[in-house]
Amino acid sequence: MVDLKGQYEKIKSEVDQGISEVINQTAFINGGAVKDFAKELEAYLGVKHVIPCGNGTDALQIALMALGLEAGDEVICPDFTFVATAEVAGVLGLKSVLVDVHPDSFTIDLDSAEKALSPKTKAIVPVHLFGQCANMDEVMDFAKKHNLYVIEDTAQAIGADYKGKTGTFKAGTMGEFGTTSFFPSKNLGCYGDGGALFTNDDNLASIARQIVNHGMGQQYDYERVGVNSRLDTIQAAILQAKLPHLDAYNSARRAAADAYDQGLSGMEEITTPYRAPYSTHAFHQYTLKLNKGNRDELIKHLESKGVPCKVYYPQPLHQFSAYHDAARPESDFKVTNELCAQVFSLPMHTELSQDDTNYIVEAVKSFFKS
Ligand SMILES: *Cc1c(COP(=O)(O)O)cnc(C)c1O
Repeated sequence: MVDLKGQYEKIKSEVDQGISEVINQTAFINGGAVKDFAKELEAYLGVKHVIPCGNGTDALQIALMALGLEAGDEVICPDFTFVATAEVAGVLGLKSVLVDVHPDSFTIDLDSAEKALSPKTKAIVPVHLFGQCANMDEVMDFAKKHNLYVIEDTAQAIGADYKGKTGTFKAGTMGEFGTTSFFPSKNLGCYGDGGALFTNDDNLASIARQIVNHGMGQQYDYERVGVNSRLDTIQAAILQAKLPHLDAYNSARRAAADAYDQGLSGMEEITTPYRAPYSTHAFHQYTLKLNKGNRDELIKHLESKGVPCKVYYPQPLHQFSAYHDAARPESDFKVTNELCAQVFSLPMHTELSQDDTNYIVEAVKSFFKS
């Protein structure tokens, strides 16, 4: 599904040099590369504050902590996402409330969100799923109307542009917080775990900076309960080497997606990914819908031709025992249930050649001819 080795080979000298500098300086924890990378990412995103942390899941948790949510408060999340989005509320004694998504964009459906509101609802977490922004103008209007905080889960969409009513913004820079992950296979991935929060609010930034460091203000002055969640200095150095390539990486992903789109257009058996007018697509995943035919058979067919194919996500979160309580009894999750049965993702990474995409397109087509 990904080719991290091929990508590394092309930037090996920059990455290796960054790593050896950290080792030479033995500044393994909170070394200069962490601060430098945060500054560089702030400039890239056009956001006032980037707060690095240990991983994308922690970033979501720290955002909820920094916003001062309290036990029993409710956080609206999409049912169709990676589990981390909904997981963190539970860790804090908050309650995630799952809602349905749009059948085309796969992002949060605000009609479902509206039905799930309660007096305890305090925040909403739009997920920019598979690399394309949720409709943030609508999300921000909804949040304003209902007095909710917005945390954008940007783990899959770093570098995507949201084209809104008031201008163009990088994914993750519109809500109170944006959060991201630098997990190796993400669009901006390091070589281990890593994550960050983004915010334009000075006060929230200073609270989040305390929380990632045990809640400490001045040295050994614990102003609040925090966690220990740091971006490793070696990982920051790797990210410094990779950030200048992020736009090229996302363009390479889009070029592969364009090639898939072209090769697979006009087939009634499948639906290629929706391209929203309000967002560029960073194609963390290239995810299609199967309209006709047996998905297991399709995956077997592709694998027999050496083409990996994965299902993101095979099951709605509300169906897992840990999340039964996260569903309002009246919610039917019609769209998420359908998507989980229909979707499949083709290989998507920065190293796909025209030959690769041609081969994969032919492999998909041959399934429907047989
Ligand atoms: C990967 C991912 C996360 C979690 O990131 P980690 O760094 O693995 O903790 C959260 N949300 C979404 C949508 C993700 O894809």
